[in-house]
Amino acid sequence: MSFHSNYSFKTIGIIHSCYTQKFGIPRQPGLVNEATATLELIPPFNRMDTLDGLDQFSHIWIQFIFHECLKDNWKAKVRPPRLGGKEKVGIFSSRATYRPNPLGLSVVKIGKIYQQDNKVFIELHGSDLLNGTPVVDIKPYLPYADIIQEAQGGFAPAPPSLKKIIFSERAQKQCRDYKNNTGRNLATLITEILSQDPRPSYLHKNNLRQYGFQLWDLNIRWQPQENHFEVMHIEPMSNSKEEASDDF
Ligand code: SAH
Repeated sequence: MSFHSNYSFKTIGIIHSCYTQKFGIPRQPGLVNEATATLELIPPFNRMDTLDGLDQFSHIWIQFIFHECLKDNWKAKVRPPRLGGKEKVGIFSSRATYRPNPLGLSVVKIGKIYQQDNKVFIELHGSDLLNGTPVVDIKPYLPYADIIQEAQGGFAPAPPSLKKIIFSERAQKQCRDYKNNTGRNLATLITEILSQDPRPSYLHKNNLRQYGFQLWDLNIRWQPQENHFEVMHIEPMSNSKEEASDDF
């Protein structure tokens, strides 16, 4: 076999996630713990025996396709958000989503593994994956080999600093009502997401205009202030789809 062979992979599963749009998704897993998702195995892999023993592990590696970054125009050098969008590093020194092969890699905490209506699911906590993401492989996280105490983090040596988030009274009430109706802790989820400052690094950060991002079928409206971000209100997407898309 030559070194230049092309390989193709089967999709083994699909992600169901609160992140229904790329904008807002944290830049790595484990940063937004309130984010829950499920990984559904698709036929012919939708068999519990493929996961036998996985419940003994707390975390898995997920290899997936950046299916919403499929443009064929990867660049040798990219500007990681952690360098403020100013400095460039090599594509292979970065976790950029546009790559020669659109493959992503995330380590996530797992919850229940279960079967429902002939479908097989793994609960995921703190993932950074878009709803509908195709998964090509799952492997258990092996602490003895995967934890590297002396590892160096290059241009991202520590987690990014967090923004302070406040909620308008209207948004607070909307989050309370939403929690009562769905059980979802929306206020915590929004706080964890926005505190990461999802704005693209090329934007002028002194522009205090309103933004929106999507969770499930909700459009979360928020606005940067001088020393914090304020969550203004929350709109069901059916009324606000067009308006929301103007923002990004
Ligand atoms: N942990 C992964 C992802 C890092 S990039 C890795 O290192 O490979 C994180 C970004 O990927 C998120 O901000 C989100 O916008 C983007 N993303 C997540 N799922 C995606 C998908 N299916 N298609 C395109 N982009 C996706």
